[in-house]
Amino acid sequence: MTPFNHDEFDNHEHIAFCHDRETGLRAIIAIHSTVLGPALGGCRMWPYESEGEALTDVLRLSQGMTYKSALAGLAMGGGKSVIIGDPRRMKSAALFRAMGRFVDSLGGRYTVAEDVGVSVADVQQMAGETTFVAGIPEKGSGDPSPATAYGVYVGLGTAVKMQFGSEDLKGCRVAIQGLGAVGYQLAQRLAADGAELVVADIHPDVVARAVDQFGAHAVAPEAIYCQDVEVFAPCALGAVLNDRTIPQLKAGVIVGSANNQLAEARHGRILAEAGKLYAPDYLVNAGGVINISHEGPNYKSARAFAHVARIGATLSEVFRLAEAEKIPTSEAADRLAERRLKGKPRDSSVAA
Ligand code: NAD
Repeated sequence: MTPFNHDEFDNHEHIAFCHDRETGLRAIIAIHSTVLGPALGGCRMWPYESEGEALTDVLRLSQGMTYKSALAGLAMGGGKSVIIGDPRRMKSAALFRAMGRFVDSLGGRYTVAEDVGVSVADVQQMAGETTFVAGIPEKGSGDPSPATAYGVYVGLGTAVKMQFGSEDLKGCRVAIQGLGAVGYQLAQRLAADGAELVVADIHPDVVARAVDQFGAHAVAPEAIYCQDVEVFAPCALGAVLNDRTIPQLKAGVIVGSANNQLAEARHGRILAEAGKLYAPDYLVNAGGVINISHEGPNYKSARAFAHVARIGATLSEVFRLAEAEKIPTSEAADRLAERRLKGKPRDSSVAA
């Protein structure tokens, strides 16, 4: 399959395949849309089993960034990059500098930030070669993951209130999949509210820390779906809501930071038909990109976080639209994002 007839192509503007012989870097940069502004999106490093798998991931992720920024009301387009390789074994300063040069070669059409497997320190290496980087302390706003975790937390409260009638999270049981930069900080916020946490990660060290710090109950990664909880919070990788996992879910609410949680669009409808309230991923995980939109010498975290909090109002609007039109919440979010991409004014209650 070529990129142009790939199932996830979706009219991408630009796809760059990058190779650096000296460092062994193999990467793909995808720019989905610059209609609302230059593209912004993280760089993921993952041991993809094939180039095809990496291409599918980057195309889906960059399209998601277009919708994320549109729905958050930002003047930014959607893009993303992936590095093929194991982040625990293949990282080097030279590799990230090579990646920085490829980002720079696009002349600002794409700005890079961190994502799974790529840390703030790695982005700082890229910054040695290009100014088109975001989410590092030198730019004012720093690591985007605290803002992302806050946005997911706000979305979780909104969804719990919608589904169960109360926003009080004391005693609310939440299963968190993935205790990385976002998942761990989400756990911290929920534990402070008295929520009961069930957690899973493929790395036992972070699980042990959550058990120790939050009194969380640890389960094996595959057991996270069938837990007897009110909320399932996917904070690891995408495509975790699929034909195999949805029938296992006991949670009535699904809200988490992972991008592309629905394996296919039809899974949004399957969740709705099962009476499960799904908070669209690209809406609730927009905190990081919203925080980056405040970057600059006058960055004020209180102002940025107040902006992130508006995710709650946008999510309520999505829930209202879904109910009124009898459509899944995933489709309602897409409609609102597409309305903005086509330049139609949105309802004033939506985050600006
Ligand atoms: P991270 O790499 O810090 O954390 C991911 C965690 O998931 C790791 O601890 C990893 O071990 C774990 N994991 C991987 N596979 C797993 C599995 N099968 N079961 C359980 N755990 C597993 O990444 P992050 O920055 O916390 O991001 C998490 C998700 O949120 C990603 O999908 C990312 O794209 C998305 N996201 C992150 C941000 C951000 O600001 N960091 C913003 C928007 C979206």
